Amino acid sequence: MSFGSGFHDIRSIESCLNDGAQFVHEYKEYLKDTIQIEREYVKNKLSHINKYKSKQEKRYTLPELTYAILNDIYYTKMNGNMEKKCEDRMALLEKFNTDIIEPLKVILNKEEEEKKKNSIKYHESCDIVMASKKKCDKKQDKIDKSEKTEKMEKSLNKSGELTELVEKDKGNGTNNLTINTTNIAPLNSNNSQTMLPSSLPSSLPTNLMSALPTGNQLYVDDNLFPDMDDTDNGSSSNDKKKIKKGKKILNPLMKMNNKKNFYIMSLKVANALRNKFYEEDTPYVFNELQSINEKLYKNFKDICIRQIEYEKELSKNYSNRNEEILRSLNSINISKDTEIYIRCYSKEWHKPEIIPFIPTTHWEDKEELVIDGPTSIVLKNMIQKGRERLYKIDLGINSKTSEYNKFEMICDSFNKNSNVPNSEIDVIRNKKNDIMQNIIMANNIKLICEIQIKEISKYIENEPKPERQHLFKPKKIINPTVCDYCKEKLWGKAYICKLCTFSCHIKCELKVPLECNGVKTKRKSLRINCSQLSEIITYNIKYFYIID
Ligand SMILES: [Zn+2]
Ligand SMILES: [Zn+2]
Repeated sequence: MSFGSGFHDIRSIESCLNDGAQFVHEYKEYLKDTIQIEREYVKNKLSHINKYKSKQEKRYTLPELTYAILNDIYYTKMNGNMEKKCEDRMALLEKFNTDIIEPLKVILNKEEEEKKKNSIKYHESCDIVMASKKKCDKKQDKIDKSEKTEKMEKSLNKSGELTELVEKDKGNGTNNLTINTTNIAPLNSNNSQTMLPSSLPSSLPTNLMSALPTGNQLYVDDNLFPDMDDTDNGSSSNDKKKIKKGKKILNPLMKMNNKKNFYIMSLKVANALRNKFYEEDTPYVFNELQSINEKLYKNFKDICIRQIEYEKELSKNYSNRNEEILRSLNSINISKDTEIYIRCYSKEWHKPEIIPFIPTTHWEDKEELVIDGPTSIVLKNMIQKGRERLYKIDLGINSKTSEYNKFEMICDSFNKNSNVPNSEIDVIRNKKNDIMQNIIMANNIKLICEIQIKEISKYIENEPKPERQHLFKPKKIINPTVCDYCKEKLWGKAYICKLCTFSCHIKCELKVPLECNGVKTKRKSLRINCSQLSEIITYNIKYFYIID
């Protein structure tokens, strides 16, 4: 099956060809726009790469660093490769322009040209068929006219023998004519409905119309259709005069017969041309158009394949470049990286000096504790409290340390097991770090206690623990009373011994000797007037202000 055998109407073929060309044209435009967009993109990308390249160059001034550490891999390898990739892409876009867009233009122009040529061929054949049909119609028309003149002659020569002959012959002629016209009629009616050649040119697409010659006479040689009475066409009135005179009596009959013969011949020719047009010329042109269409598609396909080959080549280049980056990344040793960094950036360092003791006029010029009655009580209390605190802190540190060890074990097992997600490892690591932070803070307090105990122990002998010592608890005093240590008014926040109800200010607690007699005494609340109360309030506000 081909266009020649499958189609009888050039319009469907032309719309097929136009669709194909339109598609190729659209693809060409699409690719052109794509190239434009990608060019802009690559340009932007290149300037972006350069921006970060110069940033990197500013960051590392030591040449040793710019070729060794991991940070640099991104810039020299990754960024450098990115730059090369951009250049590759740019080169590909140029290739697209010369090897894809231009050839597409060429095949489109060629297709258009060949399409036009074949369309002209088709319409030339079409014109010949139409001209032959016109000729045929013209001859039939002339016979009709002659018939009328014969009738006129008959009425003029009532007793002429020849008129009978003419009448007889004419009768036969008309009979033949009616037979012939009925023979033509089905062909005509059939064609007028489907594909009468004469109806084609006016309904063709306008672009093809322009390719057509304006007149049939240019393509149809009139000699192909001889017509002997063409020259006598305008002299029928002269004939009548001649007939009237009885001269050249044989001429009309001969003319009639010739007319009939020429008419039949032109009919045969018209039908033969018509057959040839439908059976040979049209299939030939249609097949030509088919091969033009197929050639366009084949060329287009080849160009598309070329385009994909280019893309594949580019991908291969890209993957090679990626491999290169990967090799560089794998060559990086993180701990060595750190070593290089330390070597390049470490500077000479001196431990900060010990904070010196600054003597005043009140103290002797010695960095020693002052020991007397009241201070020794305070120091003894401090040592006592310090030991208690140290004991509690040690307990806390021990439990936190064992907790920390547990988390460290979990962390180790997680690190060994590659199936554990990073997020889970991070959770455990964060918990472990929080515990370590607690231990560090507890150790700071421990150190404070240890230093205090150690320092005080240098001056005060280690005394045995008293039999009973005050058990101070913080309490809020609502009814003002007197501090058992300093004998001043006591109100608000205070310490009270649970065993002997000894009450004192918070500031006084450390100065109270440890021994407790364990005997509870009844406390008297102070009877105070308004002015005393305001005095107490003022004192307390002042005191808490200092504390804060
Ligand atoms: Zn007590
Ligand atoms: Zn007090």
